[in-house]
Amino acid sequence: MPELPEVETVRRGLAPSMEGQVITRAEVNRPDLRWPFPERMADRLTGARVLALRRRSKYLLADLSTGETLIIHLGMSGRMTVSGDPLGQFHHDHPAPVKHDHVVLHMENGARVTFNDARRFGAMDLAPTDQLDAHWLIKPIGPEPLGNAFNEDYLIATLATRNTPIKAALLDQRIVAGLGNIYVCEALYRARINPKRKARSLSKARVASLVPIVRDVLSEAIAAGGSSLRDYRQADGELGYFQHGFQVYDREGAPCQTEGCSGTIARIPQSGRSTFYCPKCQR
Ligand SMILES: [Zn+2]
Repeated sequence: MPELPEVETVRRGLAPSMEGQVITRAEVNRPDLRWPFPERMADRLTGARVLALRRRSKYLLADLSTGETLIIHLGMSGRMTVSGDPLGQFHHDHPAPVKHDHVVLHMENGARVTFNDARRFGAMDLAPTDQLDAHWLIKPIGPEPLGNAFNEDYLIATLATRNTPIKAALLDQRIVAGLGNIYVCEALYRARINPKRKARSLSKARVASLVPIVRDVLSEAIAAGGSSLRDYRQADGELGYFQHGFQVYDREGAPCQTEGCSGTIARIPQSGRSTFYCPKCQR
């Protein structure tokens, strides 16, 4: 499942083909994904100019000249591809449509943006741009981890009231936006915090240490995604998935990489997902 860095990489990959461009034609090939598409979605997209392509948490937000914003969520298996970009950055011919190409946006510059989602856990909706913060998908989301509202004071105050394991607290989208299983495991490992520790049992200093660590983990992954975009001219036009080395995620049985630690990475189930951590140095 894509997490924040993957979605940010998709945004950066799509922006050159979409920002400032008119959607000359929108093909909507089915009535729904996870939820029904908004009424007349193809009509409401066709002829609109994309003023900006933004990201909030794991949502892509395309602000349109019509006063609406197209909200896109990749879900579990959603994939975005760009083909035929005439800007000269990428050189992908338009491929023949394939199964699960549910929405295709034809841009005035000749680019074609395709949303493919085999499992259909993705979503698209249209909402007035000036009321976006009140949209039911956007409203409950907590502060952006790379934004100013996610800071030491905020996290200390928020976690002080949480009796859940710190792992579950950091996965809670109301507390911090866009963090998923992979990057929470990585952040707790770097902070040497045991993922089973109750959030409110952690000292203020340890909670505060998580803020720069979360930012670093995400920033490094976004940078890796940027490298993947540079390689992408050789790829098939799919955006957002990239090879990135993890220190603890998916490393069950491997030696801990923390200097001086002789521990072995363990995997335990937590909140229905696998937690990877070092039982020796994460306390
Ligand atoms: Zn260790």
